[in-house]
Amino acid sequence: MIFNTTPASPAIFIDKDGTLVRDVPYNIDPELLEFTPGAVPFLAAMKKAGFKLILVTNQPGIAMNLFKETAFLNYIGHMNQQLNSRLDGVYYCAHNRPGADGRFHCDCRKPLPGLILKAAFEQKISLEDSWMIGDILDDVEAGNRAGCQTILLNNGAKPNGLPALCERPTLP
Ligand SMILES: [Mg+2]
Ligand SMILES: [Zn+2]
Repeated sequence: MIFNTTPASPAIFIDKDGTLVRDVPYNIDPELLEFTPGAVPFLAAMKKAGFKLILVTNQPGIAMNLFKETAFLNYIGHMNQQLNSRLDGVYYCAHNRPGADGRFHCDCRKPLPGLILKAAFEQKISLEDSWMIGDILDDVEAGNRAGCQTILLNNGAKPNGLPALCERPTLP
């Protein structure tokens, strides 16, 4: 029997659009990439404090053929270069909205917790010591469902409906 005694790490799970970068709908042009105020030094401080940095983002534009997956990954590469602290992981849902194509549902599109759970499994992350940060309640719900603590940023995005129990952030 083999025991893996490596301790699990805490992580900052962070939404992309409207949280880490200014929301430009379906953008994959690195020229239009603009970090939100404070985001870069915040991530650097969290990395220094021992948190893994994991991007979790819904990218239905891939399923909708608005852009290619390779173009999205190219954009992410530019983003990673501009961050002083490299992301430890980028987890994205490349599927469409439920019902948008009449049939397909996945288990990774936020507010489902699939992306966070996958990252935690692959990177040995302690979810109860981790935080999900986003600008809409779908981010909060995904984080809460995964067992993280959660922060809802008020970046001007409309909350999607009245908060249900699983949508309430740990911090406002
Ligand atoms: Mg967002
Ligand atoms: Zn998905």
